[in-house]
Amino acid sequence: NDYRNDIRPNWCPGCGHYGVQAAITDAVVAKNIKPEDLAVISGIGCSSRIGGYFYAYGAHTTHGRALPYAQGVKLANQDLNVIACSGDGDAYAIGMGHTIHAFKRNVNMVYIVMDNHVYGLTKGQTSPRSDVGFVTKTSPHGSFETPLSICETAIAAGATFVAQSYMTNRKELVDLIGQAMDHDGFAFINVFSPCVTYNKRNGYDYFKDALQALPEGFDHHDRAAALKVLGETDGLVTGLLYQDTTRLSFEKAMANANGGPHPRALVHDVVKPDAELFNKLCNEFK
Ligand code: SF4
Ligand code: MG
Repeated sequence: NDYRNDIRPNWCPGCGHYGVQAAITDAVVAKNIKPEDLAVISGIGCSSRIGGYFYAYGAHTTHGRALPYAQGVKLANQDLNVIACSGDGDAYAIGMGHTIHAFKRNVNMVYIVMDNHVYGLTKGQTSPRSDVGFVTKTSPHGSFETPLSICETAIAAGATFVAQSYMTNRKELVDLIGQAMDHDGFAFINVFSPCVTYNKRNGYDYFKDALQALPEGFDHHDRAAALKVLGETDGLVTGLLYQDTTRLSFEKAMANANGGPHPRALVHDVVKPDAELFNKLCNEFK
Protein backbone atom coordinates (compact mmCIF):
# COMPACT_ATOMS: atom_id res chain seq x y z
CA ASN A 1 0.00 0.00 0.00
CA ASP A 2 0.94 3.68 -0.31
CA TYR A 3 1.95 3.98 3.35
CA ARG A 4 4.69 1.38 3.38
CA ASN A 5 8.25 2.66 3.10
CA ASP A 6 11.27 0.41 2.71
CA ILE A 7 12.43 0.66 6.32
CA ARG A 8 12.07 -2.60 8.23
CA PRO A 9 10.95 -2.07 11.83
CA ASN A 10 13.60 -3.12 14.31
CA TRP A 11 11.08 -4.08 16.96
CA CYS A 12 11.60 -7.48 18.58
CA PRO A 13 9.72 -10.37 16.94
CA GLY A 14 6.32 -10.53 18.61
CA CYS A 15 6.29 -6.92 19.82
CA GLY A 16 2.77 -5.51 20.04
CA HIS A 17 3.70 -2.37 18.14
CA TYR A 18 3.58 -4.21 14.79
CA GLY A 19 -0.15 -4.59 15.34
CA VAL A 20 -0.59 -0.90 16.11
CA GLN A 21 1.30 0.06 12.95
CA ALA A 22 -0.92 -2.29 10.92
CA ALA A 23 -4.09 -0.88 12.53
CA ILE A 24 -3.11 2.74 11.82
CA THR A 25 -2.38 1.75 8.22
CA ASP A 26 -5.74 -0.01 7.87
CA ALA A 27 -7.53 3.01 9.36
CA VAL A 28 -5.97 5.61 7.05
CA VAL A 29 -6.43 3.35 4.02
CA ALA A 30 -10.10 2.83 4.95
CA LYS A 31 -10.52 6.60 5.17
CA ASN A 32 -8.78 7.05 1.83
CA ILE A 33 -6.28 9.51 3.27
CA LYS A 34 -3.33 10.13 0.99
CA PRO A 35 0.20 9.90 2.46
CA GLU A 36 0.74 13.61 1.76
CA ASP A 37 -2.29 14.41 3.93
CA LEU A 38 -0.98 12.53 6.97
CA ALA A 39 1.68 13.36 9.57
CA VAL A 40 2.77 10.83 12.20
CA ILE A 41 4.63 12.57 15.01
CA SER A 42 6.29 10.58 17.76
CA GLY A 43 8.35 11.01 20.92
CA ILE A 44 11.06 8.61 22.08
CA GLY A 45 10.77 4.92 22.89
CA CYS A 46 10.36 1.64 21.01
CA SER A 47 6.79 2.73 20.21
CA SER A 48 7.94 6.10 18.93
CA ARG A 49 9.94 4.51 16.15
CA ILE A 50 6.58 3.96 14.48
CA GLY A 51 6.64 7.33 12.68
CA GLY A 52 9.69 6.26 10.69
CA TYR A 53 7.86 3.23 9.32
CA PHE A 54 5.18 5.18 7.48
CA TYR A 55 5.51 6.75 4.07
CA ALA A 56 3.93 10.03 5.21
CA TYR A 57 5.04 13.27 6.83
CA GLY A 58 6.49 12.74 10.25
CA ALA A 59 8.92 13.74 12.93
CA HIS A 60 10.60 11.62 15.58
CA THR A 61 10.88 14.32 18.24
CA THR A 62 12.40 14.36 21.72
CA HIS A 63 11.42 12.38 24.81
CA GLY A 64 7.93 13.29 26.00
CA ARG A 65 7.54 16.07 23.46
CA ALA A 66 5.52 14.51 20.66
CA LEU A 67 2.40 16.45 21.65
CA PRO A 68 3.67 20.04 21.63
CA TYR A 69 5.28 19.34 18.28
CA ALA A 70 2.20 17.62 16.86
CA GLN A 71 -0.17 20.36 18.08
CA GLY A 72 2.04 22.94 16.37
CA VAL A 73 2.02 20.92 13.16
CA LYS A 74 -1.77 20.73 13.27
CA LEU A 75 -2.31 24.42 14.05
CA ALA A 76 -0.04 25.49 11.21
CA ASN A 77 -1.44 22.91 8.75
CA GLN A 78 -5.15 22.69 9.34
CA ASP A 79 -5.79 20.34 6.44
CA LEU A 80 -3.26 17.76 7.58
CA ASN A 81 -4.40 14.68 9.52
CA VAL A 82 -2.10 14.54 12.53
CA ILE A 83 -1.52 11.39 14.57
CA ALA A 84 0.89 11.58 17.49
CA CYS A 85 2.29 8.31 18.85
CA SER A 86 4.02 7.58 22.15
CA GLY A 87 4.63 4.84 24.67
CA ASP A 88 3.41 4.82 28.26
CA GLY A 89 6.79 6.02 29.53
CA ASP A 90 7.02 8.83 27.01
CA ALA A 91 3.39 9.96 27.41
CA TYR A 92 2.71 9.45 31.11
CA ALA A 93 6.08 10.16 32.75
CA ILE A 94 8.33 12.78 31.14
CA GLY A 95 5.55 13.90 28.79
CA MET A 96 2.70 13.93 31.32
CA GLY A 97 2.63 17.72 31.63
CA HIS A 98 2.02 18.00 27.91
CA THR A 99 -0.45 15.12 27.91
CA ILE A 100 -2.69 16.68 30.58
CA HIS A 101 -2.70 20.04 28.81
CA ALA A 102 -3.40 18.44 25.43
CA PHE A 103 -6.45 16.69 26.98
CA LYS A 104 -7.92 19.99 28.06
CA ARG A 105 -6.71 22.06 25.08
CA ASN A 106 -8.64 19.94 22.56
CA VAL A 107 -6.63 20.48 19.36
CA ASN A 108 -8.18 18.48 16.53
CA MET A 109 -5.78 15.52 16.26
CA VAL A 110 -5.32 11.91 17.35
CA TYR A 111 -3.03 10.65 20.11
CA ILE A 112 -2.22 6.93 20.23
CA VAL A 113 -0.26 5.64 23.22
CA MET A 114 1.20 2.14 23.03
CA ASP A 115 0.89 0.93 26.60
CA ASN A 116 3.06 -2.04 27.61
CA HIS A 117 3.48 -1.09 31.29
CA VAL A 118 7.27 -0.88 30.93
CA TYR A 119 10.14 1.09 29.41
CA GLY A 120 11.23 -1.14 26.52
CA LEU A 121 13.87 0.93 24.74
CA THR A 122 15.95 1.41 27.89
CA LYS A 123 15.71 -2.34 28.61
CA GLY A 124 12.99 -2.76 31.19
CA GLN A 125 12.29 -0.28 33.97
CA THR A 126 8.94 0.40 35.65
CA SER A 127 6.71 2.92 33.88
CA PRO A 128 3.83 4.96 35.35
CA ARG A 129 1.54 2.13 34.19
CA SER A 130 3.47 -0.76 35.78
CA ASP A 131 1.60 -3.10 38.11
CA VAL A 132 2.28 -3.12 41.85
CA GLY A 133 4.82 -5.88 42.44
CA PHE A 134 6.36 -5.68 38.94
CA VAL A 135 9.98 -6.79 39.32
CA THR A 136 12.55 -5.05 37.13
CA LYS A 137 16.23 -4.22 37.40
CA THR A 138 15.23 -0.90 39.00
CA SER A 139 12.54 -2.43 41.23
CA PRO A 140 14.09 -5.70 42.49
CA HIS A 141 11.51 -5.94 45.30
CA GLY A 142 8.64 -5.18 42.92
CA SER A 143 7.10 -1.81 42.16
CA PHE A 144 5.52 -0.16 45.21
CA GLU A 145 3.63 2.46 43.21
CA THR A 146 -0.01 2.48 42.19
CA PRO A 147 -0.29 2.40 38.40
CA LEU A 148 -1.69 5.57 36.86
CA SER A 149 -5.37 5.28 35.88
CA ILE A 150 -4.86 7.05 32.60
CA CYS A 151 -8.36 6.94 31.14
CA GLU A 152 -9.91 8.35 34.33
CA THR A 153 -7.15 10.99 34.34
CA ALA A 154 -7.96 11.91 30.73
CA ILE A 155 -11.68 12.25 31.46
CA ALA A 156 -11.02 14.27 34.62
CA ALA A 157 -8.66 16.58 32.71
CA GLY A 158 -11.36 17.41 30.17
CA ALA A 159 -10.52 15.10 27.27
CA THR A 160 -13.33 14.97 24.71
CA PHE A 161 -12.55 11.54 23.23
CA VAL A 162 -11.16 8.72 25.37
CA ALA A 163 -10.85 5.19 24.07
CA GLN A 164 -8.92 2.09 24.94
CA SER A 165 -8.05 -0.94 22.87
CA TYR A 166 -5.76 -3.94 22.55
CA MET A 167 -3.56 -4.37 19.49
CA THR A 168 -4.86 -7.88 18.78
CA ASN A 169 -8.44 -6.49 18.64
CA ARG A 170 -7.67 -5.32 15.11
CA LYS A 171 -11.20 -4.49 14.01
CA GLU A 172 -12.00 -2.61 17.21
CA LEU A 173 -8.74 -0.65 17.04
CA VAL A 174 -9.12 0.24 13.35
CA ASP A 175 -12.70 1.41 13.99
CA LEU A 176 -11.59 3.46 17.01
CA ILE A 177 -8.78 5.13 15.05
CA GLY A 178 -11.33 5.98 12.34
CA GLN A 179 -13.73 7.44 14.93
CA ALA A 180 -10.83 9.33 16.53
CA MET A 181 -9.95 10.88 13.17
CA ASP A 182 -13.58 11.90 12.67
CA HIS A 183 -13.77 13.48 16.14
CA ASP A 184 -13.56 17.27 16.03
CA GLY A 185 -11.10 17.70 18.88
CA PHE A 186 -8.32 15.84 20.67
CA ALA A 187 -8.90 12.08 20.42
CA PHE A 188 -6.93 9.86 22.78
CA ILE A 189 -6.57 6.09 22.48
CA ASN A 190 -4.61 4.06 25.02
CA VAL A 191 -3.64 0.82 23.26
CA PHE A 192 -2.36 -2.20 25.16
CA SER A 193 0.65 -3.41 23.19
CA PRO A 194 2.74 -6.11 24.92
CA CYS A 195 6.51 -5.88 25.28
CA VAL A 196 7.50 -9.52 24.89
CA THR A 197 11.11 -8.89 25.89
CA TYR A 198 10.94 -6.86 29.12
CA ASN A 199 7.46 -7.44 30.48
CA LYS A 200 6.72 -11.13 30.95
CA ARG A 201 4.05 -10.24 33.50
CA ASN A 202 1.76 -8.39 31.11
CA GLY A 203 2.06 -10.47 27.95
CA TYR A 204 -0.52 -11.66 25.42
CA ASP A 205 -2.05 -14.23 27.78
CA TYR A 206 -2.43 -11.65 30.53
CA PHE A 207 -4.28 -9.13 28.35
CA LYS A 208 -6.40 -11.82 26.70
CA ASP A 209 -7.71 -12.90 30.10
CA ALA A 210 -7.83 -9.51 31.81
CA LEU A 211 -9.49 -7.27 29.22
CA GLN A 212 -13.24 -6.91 29.05
CA ALA A 213 -15.55 -5.38 26.48
CA LEU A 214 -17.90 -2.55 27.41
CA PRO A 215 -21.26 -3.67 28.80
CA GLU A 216 -24.27 -3.96 26.51
CA GLY A 217 -26.01 -0.63 26.01
CA PHE A 218 -23.08 1.42 27.27
CA ASP A 219 -23.46 5.13 26.44
CA HIS A 220 -20.12 6.74 25.63
CA HIS A 221 -21.58 10.22 26.05
CA ASP A 222 -22.20 9.50 29.74
CA ARG A 223 -19.18 10.66 31.74
CA ALA A 224 -20.34 9.00 34.97
CA ALA A 225 -20.90 5.68 33.18
CA ALA A 226 -17.38 5.83 31.74
CA LEU A 227 -15.84 6.44 35.15
CA LYS A 228 -18.00 3.70 36.67
CA VAL A 229 -16.97 1.04 34.15
CA LEU A 230 -13.31 2.03 34.47
CA GLY A 231 -13.56 1.68 38.25
CA GLU A 232 -15.37 -1.66 38.09
CA THR A 233 -12.88 -3.20 35.64
CA ASP A 234 -9.76 -1.66 37.16
CA GLY A 235 -9.26 0.11 33.83
CA LEU A 236 -9.08 -3.18 31.93
CA VAL A 237 -11.85 -2.45 29.46
CA THR A 238 -11.71 -1.70 25.74
CA GLY A 239 -13.87 0.40 23.46
CA LEU A 240 -14.94 4.03 23.13
CA LEU A 241 -15.26 5.07 26.77
CA TYR A 242 -16.15 8.72 26.50
CA GLN A 243 -16.91 11.30 23.84
CA ASP A 244 -18.01 14.89 24.26
CA THR A 245 -19.18 16.35 20.97
CA THR A 246 -20.48 19.56 22.53
CA ARG A 247 -17.15 21.24 23.19
CA LEU A 248 -15.46 23.22 20.43
CA SER A 249 -12.02 22.21 19.28
CA PHE A 250 -9.21 24.59 20.22
CA GLU A 251 -9.06 25.80 16.62
CA LYS A 252 -12.78 26.58 16.42
CA ALA A 253 -12.84 28.24 19.84
CA MET A 254 -9.87 30.38 18.84
CA ALA A 255 -11.42 31.32 15.52
CA ASN A 256 -14.71 32.27 17.21
CA ALA A 257 -12.99 34.38 19.84
CA ASN A 258 -11.09 36.26 17.18
CA GLY A 259 -14.11 36.96 15.04
CA GLY A 260 -13.17 34.40 12.49
CA PRO A 261 -9.46 34.34 11.69
CA HIS A 262 -8.25 30.89 10.97
CA PRO A 263 -5.76 29.70 13.60
CA ARG A 264 -3.30 29.10 10.81
CA ALA A 265 -3.33 32.83 10.16
CA LEU A 266 -2.73 33.50 13.83
CA VAL A 267 0.11 31.00 14.00
CA HIS A 268 1.55 32.42 10.83
CA ASP A 269 1.51 35.94 12.28
CA VAL A 270 3.49 34.71 15.23
CA VAL A 271 6.06 32.67 13.38
CA LYS A 272 6.31 34.75 10.20
CA PRO A 273 10.01 35.11 9.58
CA ASP A 274 11.15 38.69 10.10
CA ALA A 275 14.86 38.96 9.38
CA GLU A 276 15.29 42.28 11.16
CA LEU A 277 13.57 41.12 14.34
CA PHE A 278 15.42 37.80 14.22
CA ASN A 279 18.82 39.49 13.96
CA LYS A 280 17.91 41.94 16.72
CA LEU A 281 16.99 39.02 19.02
CA CYS A 282 20.17 37.13 18.10
CA ASN A 283 22.26 40.18 18.90
CA GLU A 284 20.48 40.63 22.22
CA PHE A 285 21.25 37.07 23.30
CA LYS A 286 24.82 36.94 21.93
FE1 SF4 B 1 8.77 -4.16 21.59
FE2 SF4 B 1 9.67 -4.56 24.05
FE3 SF4 B 1 11.17 -5.23 21.98
FE4 SF4 B 1 10.73 -2.67 22.54
S1 SF4 B 1 11.86 -4.14 23.83
S2 SF4 B 1 10.66 -3.61 20.49
S3 SF4 B 1 8.62 -2.72 23.30
S4 SF4 B 1 9.19 -6.14 22.53
MG1 MG C 1 6.29 1.41 27.42
